Amino acid sequence: MSKLDDDIKKMFLPSLKDARLRKNRNVETIFYKVEDIYKNLGVGKTYYIYTYGCQGNEADSEVMAGILESVGYTKASDPLESDIVLLNTCAVRENAEQRIWGVLGQLKGRKRTHPDMLIGICGCMPQEERATNKLIESYGFVDLVFGTHNRFNLPKLIHQAYLSGSKVVEVFSNEGNILENAPMVRESNFKAWVHIMYGCDEFCTYCIVPYTRGRERSRRKEDILAEVNDLVKRGYKEITLLGQNVNAYGKDIDDGSYTFGDLLTDIDKTGILRVRFTSPHPRDMDEKAIQAMKLKSVMPHLHFPVQSGNDRVLKIMNRKYTREEYLYKVKRLKEEVPNISITTDIIVGFPGETYEEFKDTVTLSVEAGFEGAFTFIYSPREGTPAASMPDPISIEEKHKWFDELKETIDLGYLKGNQRFLGEIVEVLVEGESKSGDGMLCGYTPNNKLTHFKSDDLSLVGNIVKVKITDAKSWFMIGDLVE
Ligand code: SF4
Repeated sequence: MSKLDDDIKKMFLPSLKDARLRKNRNVETIFYKVEDIYKNLGVGKTYYIYTYGCQGNEADSEVMAGILESVGYTKASDPLESDIVLLNTCAVRENAEQRIWGVLGQLKGRKRTHPDMLIGICGCMPQEERATNKLIESYGFVDLVFGTHNRFNLPKLIHQAYLSGSKVVEVFSNEGNILENAPMVRESNFKAWVHIMYGCDEFCTYCIVPYTRGRERSRRKEDILAEVNDLVKRGYKEITLLGQNVNAYGKDIDDGSYTFGDLLTDIDKTGILRVRFTSPHPRDMDEKAIQAMKLKSVMPHLHFPVQSGNDRVLKIMNRKYTREEYLYKVKRLKEEVPNISITTDIIVGFPGETYEEFKDTVTLSVEAGFEGAFTFIYSPREGTPAASMPDPISIEEKHKWFDELKETIDLGYLKGNQRFLGEIVEVLVEGESKSGDGMLCGYTPNNKLTHFKSDDLSLVGNIVKVKITDAKSWFMIGDLVE
């Protein structure tokens, strides 16, 4: 029996079969605390975290940074100078994964000359059997592999890796837990991520998330409101509420009567100036949530993934709404919040989709008046039902559809910005414009990137008034109104 076989016996390996199960409603809440044995684990050592994918991963990286600093590590500015490097990965599309293998190639060289450096892979990719098997079989220099359900175990896993000198693999394919009281090293001091729930039970046929992130589980409102109140006290201007299916909040708590709309109402009372949220599912955008979009602190922008405009395709995607139901909710939202900007996600070339069915997505995009969209060509995910559906349309043909849709979407972006010409809008200043010519930039309530002439960096983190003088497809330009 080889050493690797020996090591594998000690590993917790992912199982898509287990990850599919939804049988245990009792979700454990874990309160993070530093165990004495690990409290000096990272003293004199540095860490670096690469983050890929969604805002949920960005927030998870802030938690892992907090946990590492709670046992003595400090942040490195250069990954190649760091004692531990973590790659917090995404599994939503093939190209997200390809990038990881590329970065690992770079780190391999460094590891050769710095064998004490620890390299760890975490996030959604290790939750996939295929990816973890590849890491075990072909990436011997990777020391640590863990998933999305056990970030709180990071000190223990690092300790094991140092002691054993072998690869430590701990990936739980269960329904997940809720981690509370974990320290966070937030990237910004004026806008913050706030997880309100984790996981997803929708099982859209193309999506790996329900397998990598577990069942839908909502944090207690008391814990969320305590976090928001603390952020308000610390001067934060904007929060973004996170959940893979954010507006399903509360359905799994007690009798499920306190839902997303109620939570928005209570958060509005904390005095936070700006509230955003991502990612909602159209089916869970009920009347209570629509009414809550009128609250003063809730920003008039909704990212509302539709994926397709054709009923047959929506059905085989298992999206659980029809074109008409989606457009009805868009209509209701615009009736209640006339100034609202709606953006979306669209998949082009779903297996079996015809050109005529694709055209329904183009016409829906016009009818809904999208002011932007993330558009993707379908990417098969191993283990999802769609991955084994017949897919006769060539990738070249799908690219032609994609370009055709992009014309409509780009026009929506432009129109969505042009409607603010001459208006005075509020901008939360994020920093210097990438163009770097004495311009600052930030986002309006409608989530429009806006640039304006100023080199007064003290404005960063503050909300200023800007008069819009020009509108391009991807951004607006204006003058600071003193
Ligand atoms: S609702 Fe979103 S996260 Fe959930 S399965 Fe569907 S696409 Fe994936």
